[in-house]
This record gives sequence, C-alpha cells and structure tokens, in this order.
Amino acid sequence: MKTLPTYFGSLVFDDRVMKANLSADVYRSLKKTIDEGAQLDITVANAVAAAMKDWAVAHGATHYTHWFQPLTGITAEKHDSFISPSPDGGVIMDFSGKELIKGEPDASSFPSGGLRATFEARGYTAWDPTSYAFIKGKTLCIPTAFCSYGGEALDKKTPLLRSMEALNKQALRILKLFGNDTVKCVRTSVGPEQEYFLITKEMYDQRPDLRFTGRTLFGAKPPKGQEMDDHYFGVIKPRVEAYMADLNEELWKLGILAKTEHNEVAPAQHELAPIYSTTNIATDHNQLTMEIMQKVAEKHGLVCLLHEKPFAGVNGSGKHNNWSMATDTGVNLLSPGETPYENAQFLLFLCAVITAVDDYQDLLRLSVATAGNDHRLGANEAPPAVVSIFLGDELNAVLEAIENDTPYNGTEKTQMKLGVDVLPKFNRDTTDRNRTSPFAFTGNKFEFRMLGSSNSIACANIMLNSAVAESLKTYADSLEKADDFEAALHETIQKTIKDHKRIIFNGNGYDDAWIKEATEKRGLLNYRTTPDCMPHLLDKKNVDMLTAHGVYSEAELQSRCEIMLENYCKTVVIEANTMVEMAKTQIAPAIESYILELAQTAAAKKALDQSLPCSYETETVKKLSALTDTIAVKAKELEDVVSSLADKADVVSESYAIRDNVLAKMNELRAACDEAETLTAKDYWPYPSYGDMLFSVR
Ligand code: ADP
Ligand code: MG
Repeated sequence: MKTLPTYFGSLVFDDRVMKANLSADVYRSLKKTIDEGAQLDITVANAVAAAMKDWAVAHGATHYTHWFQPLTGITAEKHDSFISPSPDGGVIMDFSGKELIKGEPDASSFPSGGLRATFEARGYTAWDPTSYAFIKGKTLCIPTAFCSYGGEALDKKTPLLRSMEALNKQALRILKLFGNDTVKCVRTSVGPEQEYFLITKEMYDQRPDLRFTGRTLFGAKPPKGQEMDDHYFGVIKPRVEAYMADLNEELWKLGILAKTEHNEVAPAQHELAPIYSTTNIATDHNQLTMEIMQKVAEKHGLVCLLHEKPFAGVNGSGKHNNWSMATDTGVNLLSPGETPYENAQFLLFLCAVITAVDDYQDLLRLSVATAGNDHRLGANEAPPAVVSIFLGDELNAVLEAIENDTPYNGTEKTQMKLGVDVLPKFNRDTTDRNRTSPFAFTGNKFEFRMLGSSNSIACANIMLNSAVAESLKTYADSLEKADDFEAALHETIQKTIKDHKRIIFNGNGYDDAWIKEATEKRGLLNYRTTPDCMPHLLDKKNVDMLTAHGVYSEAELQSRCEIMLENYCKTVVIEANTMVEMAKTQIAPAIESYILELAQTAAAKKALDQSLPCSYETETVKKLSALTDTIAVKAKELEDVVSSLADKADVVSESYAIRDNVLAKMNELRAACDEAETLTAKDYWPYPSYGDMLFSVR
C-alpha cells in the first residue's frame, strides 16, 4: 500500500517535479517568475510546457485546459487534447509555451456584466504560475486568470492577485519604517474551514428543489433536529468515514493540505479544514475541494450539499476564512512579538485591520452576499449581518491602556509606552472562543466567519486585502513624513483606537440587544440582505479606494454589482418557479389522492355500518381540502409576483421586489404545504421528509 507521503501531491506539477524535470536555467527563470513576478521568456515557457506535457502524459493525461474562475463563482475549463498529427498517420503529443501562457476561450456565455460587447466574444486566459498546474482525470489543468480583450478582469483570480499585490506594496512600506529591509514580500494566507451536508443520492433524486436549487423549499419540521447537540464532534458514521477517507486521498493527491474533519452541529452536517496557504492558492484549492467533495460523494451514493441553507430549522453551512499576513522571511505580522519593536509593529498591523474592517464594513458584508447566505446571516446560528471585531479580553485591555495612557493591568502590570515597553505576553491558548463574532482575532490570525459555504473565498479576501492595504497606506503616508517615528507611531495607534473602537465588540453577537446597540448607538451598518448591501459596492468611497489600489477598474466594479444582483434575482426566481411546479404538479395532486382515500374509507365505513364513526376522515379531509385551496391560491400569487418582475426597470429594483414580495409569497406557499405534509399519509407524500434526509446516512 502506498503511504500518504509518497502520494501526496502526486498529481501536481510542484516544485519537486519542476526541479527534477527542468534544466537548472529554466528552473531558475521559472522560480524568479513565481517568486518575484518576473516576465517569463518564451524559450523558458516552451521548455516548461514541454516538461509539463511529458509529465502529464506519463501520468495518463490526454488533454490540457486553462482552468479559470469566471464570475459565476465556480470554475470553468475547456479541454484540448495534446495530439497533433504526424506524417506517418500517427500522432505526437504537443504542447507549446504559447499554449501554456495564453488561451482564448469563447467568453460569450460567461457573465460579464456589460464589460464585454457582444461583438467581442473572445476573452483570454493567462497562466498564473504562482499556482501549480495539476491533473484532474485525464486533463492537465493550468490555473489561469480570465480577461476580456479590453483587459478587464472577467474572473475572481485577477482582482485577488491585484489585491494581494496592493497589500504587499503597502505592508513593505510599513516594514521599512520599522527597519525591516530584508523582507522582499508580504503575502496573506488563508485557511478556509468548509462546512457541508451529506445525504443519500436516492433521496436527493426525489427532490426537485434540491436538484434545481440546492436547498429544500418545502419540508415539515422533523421530530428530531439538532436540539440534543449530539452531532457536533460526534462519532463519525462508517459511511461518512469512508467518504472522508476517499475525499482526503483525492485532495492529498492534488497537494491540498486537508487536515481536520468532524461532524458539525446539524445532523448530516460536516466540516473539512485544510492547513492554511497563500491566499490565491488557498482559493484555488477551496474551489477544487468543493468540486471534489461533490464528485467523491457520487461515488459513495451520496450527495454533498454546499448550499448555505439546505434545510430550514437546522444550522446552515458557512465557511470560516482564517486570514493572516506574513513576510517571506516567515514572520506572521499578526503575531505579537518578543521585543518592544515587534510589539509596536504588531499593534500597527492590528490597527490597520481594525480600521479596515470599520471603514469597509459594507465591502466585507457584500463580499459574502448571495441569496443563499441571506438565509444564514442574522438568523441566530451564523454571525449577524452587522460586522464587528472580537479581540478578546487581554488584547482589549492592552488597547484600552494605550487609548487612555493608563497602565495595563495585565499579569505584568506594564505601562504601555510603545516602542519602549514590552507588551504583556498573550496567552494564545486561552484566546476566548467567541463563536458569535463575524470577525474574530484568534491569537495570530483573524477568522472572518460570514462567508457562505458555497461562496468562492476570493471575494472576501479581495475586499479584506484591499481595505487593509488602504489603512496601511494611510499609516505609511503619514509615518514616512514624521520626524519622531516613535511618537508618531504611538499617536497613530492611539488615534486609531479612539476613532475605530466602535467596531470592537466582545459580547454575544446573537443577542438582539447587540444589534440595537450596534445600529443605534454605534452607527454600525446592518445590511440584512443582498439587495440591501450590493449597490454600495458603487459608493464613491469604495470605488475610490478599490480603483486607487488598482484592484478593480470602475467598469469592473459596475459589472460585479450587476452580476451579483442578477445572480440573486435569478436564484430566487428559479426557487419560486420550482416551488410553483412542485406545489401544482406533485404536492396538491398527492394531497388530493389522500383526500380521496380518506373519503372512500369514510364512505366504505358508512356503507358497512351507518353508525361507524368517521370524524377522523371527515376532519382531515376538511383540513386538507382547505389547504389544497390555499396552496392553489398561494401558488398563483407567487406566479403573479414573479411575472410582475418583468416590469422592473433595472436589476436593483428587481432585487428589491424579490426581497420584499417574492420571498414572502414563497414562505406563505411553503407554510401551507408543510402543514399539509404533517396531515398526509407518508406513502402519499411525494418527497422524502426532513427526518428521512437528515438521518439517512449511516
Ligand atoms: P477552529 O475550528 O478552532 O477555528 P480549525 O483548526 O478548524 O480551528 O481551523 C483553523 C484554520 O486556521 C485552519 O485552516 C488553519 O490552517 C488556519 N490557520 C492557522 N494559522 C493560520 C494563519 N497564521 N493564517 C491563516 N490561517 C491559519
Ligand atoms: Mg474556526
């Protein structure tokens, strides 16, 4: 049997393979491109392409593809085989540097939000050498960025790379001020914890709502849900264990550092966390992980649900984005250091994050906004829609001491004079485990917890990196001019704490009182839904900041806003249409059949003996008949509000109509159907119940 270390990364054209298969010169040039972004010479590209092809063919690959992440939020690929005819009637396997570096897929069917005129359908993909190529099935996948011919980004990777560069540039300026001249680059790292549900394929196939929308649109509350708290970290069932083992193996072969797995709070819910890596690689890996989770599930007769809220009444699924910044010399900038200088530097980076989160609450909120995630945020199971930061008691006390020039009464009783005194040691192991905060400091990283389970993590990290780059830039602009660096530093940190402490909240984020305090006293934003927040992407302050750092052009931002709102509208309309169809063609007829059975039973009883009681049949028939009438009415009303959307002038007003009218009508239709489910014999109900689905995998 092959052991893990021998097959880890076996399907990846990683550094080990490069070193072994490239000449020393070619390897050195490629490394320079990877590490420092140097231009790649075409002769080098040709040599890399040839080595990649030989390696891929030796591993059974027949095709290659530029693998990219269009704005649909999933990945895209178009396969080309390596074959090229040879004069003798056979084929040779061919792959050039040009084909490696650039592809030209027809981009016309990808959303562009108006970025690409219809006559210019072509887009191009450009190799991202910082993310290793890998083999999936029989295809060599080359991670690429995707742009229009005009050069506008049509994908999520391009702005992500730009945001990492923006942060790198500003962080280096700050490090220089602290005398760090050896650091060549600062990168952000991410470890995304991924939640998901597993149900049997058999049940999934019977539910049009799951097949069309990824979530159940109907379903009465089961007798047992998550109230016993018996699933979280519970013993993993054999079938799930087999799935996880297979999944891990597939991920490991792709060099994905799958590390932690456990049962989550809801029945049938699980989590997988990898070891963190550089943000763009973590993003590629998370996209791959989601894809492979679904593929492996199929092999086990299961379906992996990545929707944020597949089942009403039990927890939904999110993704925790653990984020930090580190230098190429291995220093985590969010880790409190050993010396006064390191501590001051840490505090400045910490302040940069605090400022960023406060100033750009709206961007962080909208970076995770989707129709699916709207069902989670603020629903007492996931963080609220209000963005705030949790720092923990110790760090909070340090900041208070700095703010007020008072002694810090921690374990060591130190007067906090930055750059002179040593910060008290943080006991990292005891960082409070506040689970209700949307943005929690966890000792040496921040955990952004608002992401939905199906979201690409690119969006959240683009906004986070950019906003932090902006605060670092403001600091650098003023500190570079300061005569007395230490005094200016102290002042900057103190001012940040004073100006932005409203964003810090260490209490229970699920508490209604907090939402009241946050919005009424602190003036924090509470954008409950996607239509509430998304248009703010185009607020002047946001456009100014994102364009100033070269992360997005204004046109790219407009296109993102348009696409995200369109996506919201389409998602809900598909759900509404699915509900209408299910209600009219399956649910109502099923109830009617059961009514008939009850009526026939009553009639048969009466025929047998007039005095036999039939109140059960009569009462149930009455209730169910009233419900089928309600269902017919509600289905019609829902159809009507959906049709009326055609009158809306633009996507923003359409999204408001959906938020205010369509979702409400969907809830009304669902309520009637769910009640009918509780009165109808199971044999007649056309779908597996919540209880069946949530407790089916053993
Ligand atoms: P918990 O569930 O307690 O929050 P997990 O161990 O499940 O913690 O997940 C923590 C995640 O944070 C992992 O993916 C881990 O690799 C990641 N992580 C740890 N240190 C860092 C760091 N410095 N930067 C980014 N991510 C980190
Ligand atoms: Mg976590």
